[in-house]
Amino acid sequence: MLLGALEAGGTKMVLAIGNENGEIKDRISLPTLTPEETMPQMTDYFKNHKLDALGIGTFGPADLNKNSSTYGYITTTPKLAWRNYNICGEFKKALGIPIGFDTDVNAACLGEATFGCMKGLENGIYITIGTGVGAGILTGGKLLHGMLHPEACHILIERNPKDTFEGTCPYHKNCLEGLAAGPAIEKRWGKKAIELKDCAEVWELEAEYIAKALVNYILIMSPERIVLGGGVMHQEQLFPIIRRKVKELLGGYLSTKQMDDMDSYIVGASLNDNQGVMGCLSLAMQALK
Ligand code: ADP
Ligand code: ZN
Repeated sequence: MLLGALEAGGTKMVLAIGNENGEIKDRISLPTLTPEETMPQMTDYFKNHKLDALGIGTFGPADLNKNSSTYGYITTTPKLAWRNYNICGEFKKALGIPIGFDTDVNAACLGEATFGCMKGLENGIYITIGTGVGAGILTGGKLLHGMLHPEACHILIERNPKDTFEGTCPYHKNCLEGLAAGPAIEKRWGKKAIELKDCAEVWELEAEYIAKALVNYILIMSPERIVLGGGVMHQEQLFPIIRRKVKELLGGYLSTKQMDDMDSYIVGASLNDNQGVMGCLSLAMQALK
């Protein structure tokens, strides 16, 4: 079986060819320009392979409601050229194959659930902390959609009283993304995140905000595992601090085997940063069923 994967990002499009085992056989990357410029390049690439189905994980917001007249559209994105764009429909027209469609972070969550460290679990959360923050939620073995799709990166976080940084989110003064995404770290401390590696207070504060968010996710969604990916999480020193703070904040309230084994409860992404593309392959498989 030959499956196509499109990880549609605001700055780049990653296109890949793979199969139902998550094996990636070819991959290219294109800059995200306008649909008029980028769509023909993408359809040409996919047309060169005899695909059975395509899976798309896109930047959002996107309409995932199959009963909606704008299902398969990228909707109110700040990337104006792609606003209200029927990405799924245009691929369908050009390729004539089944298409699976979800958000980029839900796709990455599905990648981990199908091929990675959430395999076999019914409930889990995948969080990416990079240019933005995003969370994909697996519940009862399915990706959570709902009214729109979870926007768990904008949950409101109690600020550390010593943190005077105003946050980067234009909508909220103290949401997770505005306080803890890569650009927030860089603006608060005035340096590239990667150059702050040895600065303990940076990661102590970062871990505090991530841990506060995780505690809320744990209490509401009861995930069986939490997977943290994205550029910022390449700072491995964050993991032990996050685990410690989550335990402290929960105050011993939850007593499960997972709480006794935080090292395998809160983990890093397991697919070498291929979780997004592999999740798109899985979306393509779902579209075939
Ligand atoms: P994107 O979110 O755009 O898909 P990334 O997940 O790589 O891409 O996130 C990019 C952000 O992550 C940048 O803001 C950068 O500050 C941060 N980042 C990337 N690599 C590292 C690293 N090794 N250590 C700390 N921060 C990083
Ligand atoms: Zn926000």
